[in-house]
Amino acid sequence: MRALTFQGARTVRLDDVPRPTLKGPEDALVKVTTSAICGSDLHLYHERIPIQAGAILGHEFVGVVEDVGDHVQRVKPGDRVVACFFTYCGHCINCRRGWFSQCERKGVFGYGQHFGDLGGGQAEYCVVPLANQTLEPIPDAVSDEQALFVGDILATGFFGAERARIQPGDTVAVVGAGPVGLMAVMSAQLFGPSQVFAIDMVEERLKLAAQLGATPINAADGNAAKQVKALTGGHGTDASVECVGLAATIETAIYSVRPGGTVSVVGVPEMLEGNFPHTRIWWNNLTYTGGVCNVPAYMRQLLDLIAAEKLDPARIVSHRLNLDEGARAYEMFDRREATKILLVP
Ligand code: NAD
Ligand code: ZN
Ligand code: ZN
Repeated sequence: MRALTFQGARTVRLDDVPRPTLKGPEDALVKVTTSAICGSDLHLYHERIPIQAGAILGHEFVGVVEDVGDHVQRVKPGDRVVACFFTYCGHCINCRRGWFSQCERKGVFGYGQHFGDLGGGQAEYCVVPLANQTLEPIPDAVSDEQALFVGDILATGFFGAERARIQPGDTVAVVGAGPVGLMAVMSAQLFGPSQVFAIDMVEERLKLAAQLGATPINAADGNAAKQVKALTGGHGTDASVECVGLAATIETAIYSVRPGGTVSVVGVPEMLEGNFPHTRIWWNNLTYTGGVCNVPAYMRQLLDLIAAEKLDPARIVSHRLNLDEGARAYEMFDRREATKILLVP
């Protein structure tokens, strides 16, 4: 089968690899209908997160179940499914407490041998372990494209917004208007804020954020937190949702909120130890939270919100390309010439 593989820094290649097969009774084989390139793939692309050469990439994918192991009852061949970007067992101590993203048997698709050595979704087929949990059936009313982001970026934007504890009437600063930030803008609005700001420097993305109801702030126009303060009567917002992960943007998220506010970080953080503003957080009674999205806790509700036309995540898709064009797609997404790229095998 055809698959996109990591070959070294900034090098992705379309390879012909053996089609994966079921390895255990809890596995399902999925024929991928659509996958996407995520900002988290860029961490691998730039080797900020280690991955071995030859690993199949891709952790955002939807498809049709082709085959299942003997213990898989929740999905059957022919079912349309969306995969959570990681596997989870549902019954370890962390899963039992509802923290599926901390599952003791967690692996991440398309992240190579350091993250469970799973296959990847930027391919024609992918084997999904722990399939009873990891796969979510897609309702008839929801298209593959609409369901795709439920397994990663939409869940992450929602998780970020939920943990920002947005109350009706609140103001919110979303830092980063990449795909995750745009999902956070959409999700934040479900909690009834009076105003959502979106901070980035890519005009195309800021324009899209504005179409989604946010007030755009261009970080290139000067200190973004100061711009937020100026637009909120000098106070700052009630909450911020950080969707980039750089030291500078985490700082923006912390300095944009008013005393007593909440900072919710979903961007994968670069190494921050040493210059993290603990004192600011303490003196201003801020609540700081973040981490890997607890995706399975949200998949069903998000699919229902999409079916009810209260969320329209596919609005951010800028490019639909063939899997064969994967190498070029990575280059374009990395240069921020595309907002969100779908790859169709
Ligand atoms: P992306 O790289 O496309 O988006 C990042 C955005 O940040 C870009 O639009 C960029 O222009 C903007 N940006 C960069 N520097 C900035 C600055 N100084 N000020 C303002 N904006 C700035 O990636 P994405 O797909 O949107 O993902 C965003 C982050 O979320 C990544 O770190 C990704 O790994 C992470 N992520 C986390 C989870 C999770 O479970 N917590 C899940 C998915 C993605
Ligand atoms: Zn991702
Ligand atoms: Zn578990």
